[in-house]
Parts: sequence; C-alpha cells; structure tokens
Amino acid sequence: MNNLLDAAKNKATAIYELAKRIGNSELALEISDLKLKIAEIQTDYANLQNENRDLKEKIRSLENDKNEQPILKNRIYYLKDGSPCCSGCYGKDKKIIPLSYVGIGIASHICPACDAPYNIDN
Ligand SMILES: [Zn+2]
Repeated sequence: MNNLLDAAKNKATAIYELAKRIGNSELALEISDLKLKIAEIQTDYANLQNENRDLKEKIRSLENDKNEQPILKNRIYYLKDGSPCCSGCYGKDKKIIPLSYVGIGIASHICPACDAPYNIDN
C-alpha cells in the first residue's frame, strides 16, 4: 500500500512539474492539493497499521488468557494439565492458585494463598 501511495505521489509530482513547464498554474495548484491528500492518506494508513498491530496483540493476549482459564468440574477448578486450583481465589480475584498436595487426611489439598482445604478424590 505504501509503495502504491509513493508511486501515486511520484506521478503527481511529475504531473505538477509538467503543469509548471507548460505554464498551467491552475493544474499545478490542483496537483499540489492532490499531493497533500496523498500525504494525508499515508499518515492515516500508518495510523491504521499501528492500530491493527495493537489489536492483533490484544487478540493474542485475550486468546492466551482464555487458554489459561481453569475449567470447573465437581465444584473444583482444574487447569488444562489437570491440576486443581483454588476455587475461592479464582472466584474472588480470578487468581489461578494451584493447590498443594498435603496427603490423605481431612484435606488432600490446600490452597497456599488462602489456606482453604480441599478433599479431592483422584
Ligand atoms: Zn485460595
């Protein structure tokens, strides 16, 4: 696109020079205007490219966030790899805290952040 705009600007410059050479100042003025419009389009194009890049980055980031979201199963959230994480912390702050295995007893797992006990049958 930028190459096309550069080519259009070069053509406009050539026509401008031609208009000046043949003494058509009205045409030269119109071509000057055209060159300004092309420069404006180039600026808009650059801004759109930047916006497009930012939006792509945002989509990538949102897709990553979505992939990291835990899945609720039997009232417990699990990560993609199957490891359990704290439902309380996730429900409260959307924080993904993997549970620590503490062995068989009253609780098989515990949240290292809020100390919530979990009994998970595996
Ligand atoms: Zn927790």
